[in-house]
Amino acid sequence: MSRWRVNRYHSGLAKRVITIAPLPPEKSAYALARYSRSADSIRQSIEWVRTHNSQQFLESFYFQYGHQSIADLGHTVLCFEGISELAASEIEDEVLWDGQAKSSRYQDFSKGGFIVPAEFNAVDAASYQSAGNALIVAYQEIHVLVDAHLREKLPRPESMKPEAYGRNIAARAFDVARYCLFWGVPTNVGQVTSIRTLEKQIKRLRVSEFGEVRELGLEIAEACAAPPECTWDDLNAEPIAPTLARHAEPDEFIQRSHADVAAWAKQNLDVAPLDAPRVDLVKPDDVLTEIAATLLYPVCSHSFRALYETLRGWSAARRGEVLDVALQSRGQRDDFLRGFRGGQYCFDMLIDIGAYRDMHRHRRCHQYRQAYTGQYGYESPALLAEAGAQGVYSAAMDAALAAMQQLPEPGRQYLLPFGARSRFLFKMDFAEVEYIARVRSGVKGHFSYRDVAWQMKQRVDEMEPELGRLLQATPPWVEDPLKR
Ligand SMILES: Cc1cc2nc3c(=O)[nH]c(=O)nc-3n(C[C@H](O)[C@H](O)[C@H](O)COP(=O)(O)OP(=O)(O)OC[C@H]3O[C@@H](n4cnc5c(N)ncnc54)[C@H](O)[C@@H]3O)c2cc1C
Repeated sequence: MSRWRVNRYHSGLAKRVITIAPLPPEKSAYALARYSRSADSIRQSIEWVRTHNSQQFLESFYFQYGHQSIADLGHTVLCFEGISELAASEIEDEVLWDGQAKSSRYQDFSKGGFIVPAEFNAVDAASYQSAGNALIVAYQEIHVLVDAHLREKLPRPESMKPEAYGRNIAARAFDVARYCLFWGVPTNVGQVTSIRTLEKQIKRLRVSEFGEVRELGLEIAEACAAPPECTWDDLNAEPIAPTLARHAEPDEFIQRSHADVAAWAKQNLDVAPLDAPRVDLVKPDDVLTEIAATLLYPVCSHSFRALYETLRGWSAARRGEVLDVALQSRGQRDDFLRGFRGGQYCFDMLIDIGAYRDMHRHRRCHQYRQAYTGQYGYESPALLAEAGAQGVYSAAMDAALAAMQQLPEPGRQYLLPFGARSRFLFKMDFAEVEYIARVRSGVKGHFSYRDVAWQMKQRVDEMEPELGRLLQATPPWVEDPLKR
């Protein structure tokens, strides 16, 4: 048993690990967000939430002040039944998404008919239905033929039970038959997401080109505002995310940006086709070209290689124009679109531990740290000298760093003060540079990481001014200490 356990059990401290049964997601978000700003224990915070209005809290902090990570603290479970495979694929098109869809290997898809898009008139619907029926018939026939073929080719081993053998053969036959399935066949999907992801998902679905998908976006919002369909017990019978439901408006930025880039491409894009293998590998060496080509990719039918090579021959100004067009409808609260997640920026930071604690929380990057040695000295905020506290501070820091060196490892690291510097590597794409530079340089933040975020923008400005100009960071000298 380690010394820590002995110490803890002998000192009779309260439990350090506390499990919480699922709460309604918005209640959970409120309880955990409040927990970070109050001295209360989580038990007290949950009691607080029982008697206070979580909708009001989320309205102010999440939607008005834009503390988006609050919505990461509540998770929702939703299921979709009888939706088209196409809609399922659109639903699943989130990076931070957990879920499972009906398996085309283990389930027979010929039984459920198929979805006829509401956009069709009667004539189109009839020809779609007859083509769809033919595909389903082919699916069934192929499954029978391949099943029989596989049974002949791969006889059951003595050691395998007949049921297991039958299931395996059927699954392999479905793997072949599935080539005849199509986007209109119905499926079921179960998903677990944070409220934050759910909000993004609803907004995105609501601007889909497909009516079914747009309707599903609305239905999700309605379902979030109504009592849940399935409950484990009566405790969780309240709506899962009523506040979110009121705010999940269509994401017009995605829609407009796509339309703007498509219109621009129609007028300006002239790409010579290039031969490429079925799975091609392109290793961009220029981020501006990579992002411009990525933005154009979804609105044209050229290979990425052909686009990239063509754009490389353009002037930086013309490539930059693609980015400007994609951003021209961006609102105050809109994040950069996926297309901007290009490039690899490696920021090597010699920063104080406090700043690292804050920067560390950015997940859309890869982070590495060196050992906590205390060898790089410490930061001295200007306010210390202004307040006449420099002497106290320096003495305390010098003494701590000296004491640290006398202590054994591991263990001495525990004495490293938050003002001490250490070295960290942050690797991220351009969109995350933009996000961190914008969010972390804002006047609400701590001056230490505000400066780090500002320095990040400076480095990009120096190296790639045509991309640096898109980074909207607030300079450290713009201050508003009373802003929450
Ligand atoms: C003023 C301020 C006060 C704060 N106060 C506190 C506090 O009191 N306590 C506390 O614990 N924290 C606090 N934080 C930290 C905050 O809660 C966040 O953890 C931190 O800011 C990271 O934010 P993020 O999730 O938006 O960023 P990131 O993790 O950088 O994410 C950026 C975006 O990418 C998405 N994303 C993340 N990972 C991925 C991925 N792998 N793939 C695709 N997309 C991804 C996110 O959903 C988000 O939209 C504070 C932050 C600020 C700015």
